[in-house]
Amino acid sequence: MKRITELDFDNTYSRLPGDFYDDARPTPLENPRLVCFNPDAAALIDLNPEEANNPELALYLSGGITIPGSHPLAMYYTGHQFGVYNPDIGDGRAILLGEVRNEHDGKWDLHLKGAGRTKYARVFDGRAVLRSVIREYLCGEVMHGLGIPTTRALSIVGSDEKVERETTERGAMLLRIAETHVRFGSFEGFHYTGREDYVKLLADYVIENNFPHLKDGNDKYASFLSEVVDKTAKLLALWQAYGFAHGVMNTDNMSIIGLTLDYGPFGFLEEYSPEYIPNHSDHFGRYSFGNQPAIAFWNLQMLATALGSLVPRELSQEVVFGFRGLYGKYYLGIMRQKLGLVKEDDGDPMLIKGFLAILEETKADYTNFMRGLGDFPAEAEGEKVNTVEEYPAFKEWAAVYGRRLISEGSVDAERKVAMSSVNPKYVLRNYLAERAIRKAEDEGDYSEIERLRVLLKNPFSEQPGFDEYSKPTPPSERGLVISCSS
Ligand code: AMP
Ligand code: MG
Repeated sequence: MKRITELDFDNTYSRLPGDFYDDARPTPLENPRLVCFNPDAAALIDLNPEEANNPELALYLSGGITIPGSHPLAMYYTGHQFGVYNPDIGDGRAILLGEVRNEHDGKWDLHLKGAGRTKYARVFDGRAVLRSVIREYLCGEVMHGLGIPTTRALSIVGSDEKVERETTERGAMLLRIAETHVRFGSFEGFHYTGREDYVKLLADYVIENNFPHLKDGNDKYASFLSEVVDKTAKLLALWQAYGFAHGVMNTDNMSIIGLTLDYGPFGFLEEYSPEYIPNHSDHFGRYSFGNQPAIAFWNLQMLATALGSLVPRELSQEVVFGFRGLYGKYYLGIMRQKLGLVKEDDGDPMLIKGFLAILEETKADYTNFMRGLGDFPAEAEGEKVNTVEEYPAFKEWAAVYGRRLISEGSVDAERKVAMSSVNPKYVLRNYLAERAIRKAEDEGDYSEIERLRVLLKNPFSEQPGFDEYSKPTPPSERGLVISCSS
């Protein structure tokens, strides 16, 4: 276990040509202090959790002191935002401090969000506000707990620095870690400026670092695209099955290794609704919950276009069109597990569709209803299960479901255990995050964030004393509008 000054850096991105990034230094915050520290993320980079007590750690984690061995830079990228190409994006407020190798030969980007203006900041201030970094910090942990690929956060440094959004808020920095921060949009900028040599160089870089098994294969670029399609399909299947709406699926927010990246106005479903739009500036619902898989497919088309010089059109079409089949296969697989089904049956897609239709109509809580379904007695064909059990359509569905369970010899007690390992008891409901944010902002009390972090890292385990945290949003907090400014 290492001190912050002893980390083992290998800054591969900084060895790429200058057009890939801009050397940037973080702009320190006024009166920085460490307010959250995630020991689980620290373990990934071999950082001693005792370092949380190092009075200088806040300075290292907010750019006040440069971490020895690091090479801070802002990454260049572009992307399609709400369907329109923007040639002018890049890390405007985040800085890749460096890449740390751990003792298991894993490599992690340390990416500091809210680090001040960079060359790519355009008219913006380079900052992130406390409430938005708290949401990102917590959501990374619950996603990881749910088994959904994600970036994670090591720390939050708070400050007295004033940041203007709808109101005056306080600036904060989040140190985010991931195996890479390369995005679909990292390829697009080079393609649309005719630098196909750089598209190739970046593809080679990503293959070397994140897909090394493809390095010496034939058709390695097509295989690379194919793996990105596969990872993206898996990610989307997980989002849809767990009721996660990202909110801003622009191509610059799409991780090349299939991580959930760039948490903004995200939300977990309360009631099941394909129309759910977590981002209040998304007036036409481009990024509504139900649209997410189609948008991922479109984003992959944009990636394939950017890789056009490496993968011929006909081949990339075939690969990208594979998304639908892969997504369907993964989604069905996860939903079968969530329903406690072990064997495959041709009727499963209809069974799942019928189930979701009932949830949508009855406005049952998505997370809690699925959790409660683990108590369904196979023999009873529609006995009391949950809040919607009296609903006629549910009884009909339950009869089919019950027969299906009996047909595969399902054992109630065993099924319940299996279902509880895939249907969470807790998710990061917006009101829970909001309560923690309120305490932090109003009282300088960060204990609720820590409580949520510890709770949500094991979202499938019943945790005594935390029943309240599994409740749907109380009526008084229903109309909560999450600001999309961050
Ligand atoms: P996001 O919506 O956070 O994914 O950001 C989209 C783009 O805008 C990225 O290039 C960000 O770096 C940039 N950006 C967002 N907010 C700021 C800010 N306050 N200062 C500088 N750049 C920003
Ligand atoms: Mg972004």
